[in-house]
Amino acid sequence: MARYIFITGGVVSSLGKGLASAALGALLQARGYTVRLRKLDPYLNVDPGTMSPFEHGEVFVTDDGAETDLDLGHYERFTGVSARKTDSVSSGRIYSNVLEKERRGDYLGKTIQVIPHVTNEIKDFIEIGDDEVDFMLCEIGGTVGDIEGLPFFEAIRQFSQDKPRGQCIFMHLTLLPYIAASGELKTKPTQHSVKELRSIGIAPDVLVCRSEGPIPQKEREKLALFCNVRPDAVIAAQDLKSIYEAPLAYHREGLDQAVLDAFGIAPAPKPDLSRWEDVYDRIFHPEGEVKVAIVGKYTQLEDAYKSIAEALTHGGMANRVKVKVEWVDAEIFDKEDAAPHLEGFHAILVPGGFGERGTEGKIKAAQFARERKIPYLGICLGMQMAVIEAARNVAQLPDAGSEEFDHEAGEKRFTPVVYHLKEWVQGNYTVQRKVTDDKGGTMRLGAYTANLKEGSKVAGVYGTTTIEERHRHRYEVDIKYRDQLEACGLSFSGMSPDGKLPEIVEWKDHPWFIGVQFHPELKSKPFEPHPLFADFVRAAKDTSRLV
Ligand code: GLN
Repeated sequence: MARYIFITGGVVSSLGKGLASAALGALLQARGYTVRLRKLDPYLNVDPGTMSPFEHGEVFVTDDGAETDLDLGHYERFTGVSARKTDSVSSGRIYSNVLEKERRGDYLGKTIQVIPHVTNEIKDFIEIGDDEVDFMLCEIGGTVGDIEGLPFFEAIRQFSQDKPRGQCIFMHLTLLPYIAASGELKTKPTQHSVKELRSIGIAPDVLVCRSEGPIPQKEREKLALFCNVRPDAVIAAQDLKSIYEAPLAYHREGLDQAVLDAFGIAPAPKPDLSRWEDVYDRIFHPEGEVKVAIVGKYTQLEDAYKSIAEALTHGGMANRVKVKVEWVDAEIFDKEDAAPHLEGFHAILVPGGFGERGTEGKIKAAQFARERKIPYLGICLGMQMAVIEAARNVAQLPDAGSEEFDHEAGEKRFTPVVYHLKEWVQGNYTVQRKVTDDKGGTMRLGAYTANLKEGSKVAGVYGTTTIEERHRHRYEVDIKYRDQLEACGLSFSGMSPDGKLPEIVEWKDHPWFIGVQFHPELKSKPFEPHPLFADFVRAAKDTSRLV
């Protein structure tokens, strides 16, 4: 039976609850425990798959094909535990399950209510896989006091009562604002948010307080007294230079010790933090710097490409260089020369995306990288753009394009070298789709195997010829054009096991030009950088030496 840690937030949103949860998970692992992290989100979307990246940041995809919150990415990056469908749930999903059961008649004619039907559905979800780990960490999205979060708070309150005493603890994250005029850290907002929490029956065991600087002893004691927590369970969370400092910083502040104390685990097993010490050393002592351009559409919001930015950082750590990322809006050079915008970078990355806007610029970025022999990594849409570029400018198919853009425009304008995929094999099943299908959850999603060509660049990078990577797309490069493109030097070096779906393309006579239909960034970790990102940054480092 797992022990449960419920993580809630107060005062303001965006305090880094996800990061604190992930860091705590890593610290418990460092003490030899097994963990799983979960996110419960109060919004009504069934999943974030249909939300704009501008609204919600990146959609993180799990191996088993769930489109989830980007916090699950943090969880995986810090713990290395692969997230599952059952590690992320929203109010929308909970209500949709309850309503489905109601329609089926599962409730035997009862009146369906938030308590107990919705709260029971939440409690059942929390408990999935209870016997698999030592600690289950459940983060509740939003802040205490939000109307939409109430069923979740009520459910975790009940849950802790249902379980034997000492099985569940509550950790609450708040903000201590600093008032410069009086030179004081203010504890009142925290007091109010704890009061709010207690009014719904939850008393925090551990208080994590975000602040710009250290928390003086006087404020710590005040917080302990007014919020009814032990003084050593008031944990300071100061702003950090890198998120990967978080496990060491939280350990120094005593977070993992406070959590184990709250469970009454004594003596606590000693932590082995060597993994995080090495990560720290690599981040804070780089031996050089490379400049990488990410040519995309959602460049105003870095969270839209969260995992890519992190994977590049990991690639830098593998090579002991700092990766300086610049976000370049592809639309700027849709109609003009890309060169002035891309010169000076040591590598170019074109990430995933949806819709036609900005794609002409991305195609130009691929052309620039190919012609100038600059390392290029194309991810999903970035691979599709590289193939279109090759078709148009090398294989003499000037009208080459993607069916996605024709569908969007409602007219046929292109020769579709990238087409809408309607049938594919997933394990033992054949999946079928129509253009008119619902938008939510209908893409080619989750982990698929790819076979790599012996002797190809990617086989060298991965050090194997069978890989498994995560997908999230509707459109696919058409193998109809394979021979024509390969004759021009664009090798289809990774294919689906049935040989029908191109997974990877690479230019033969280029130092480093790889396009992948999947999202390698989702599997990269600071202590285990993804091979594609590690080698991409190595290639960028080589370019930086040449200029
Ligand atoms: N829009 C493209 C597709 O659906 C690419 C998707 C992506 O980059 N994730 O195939």
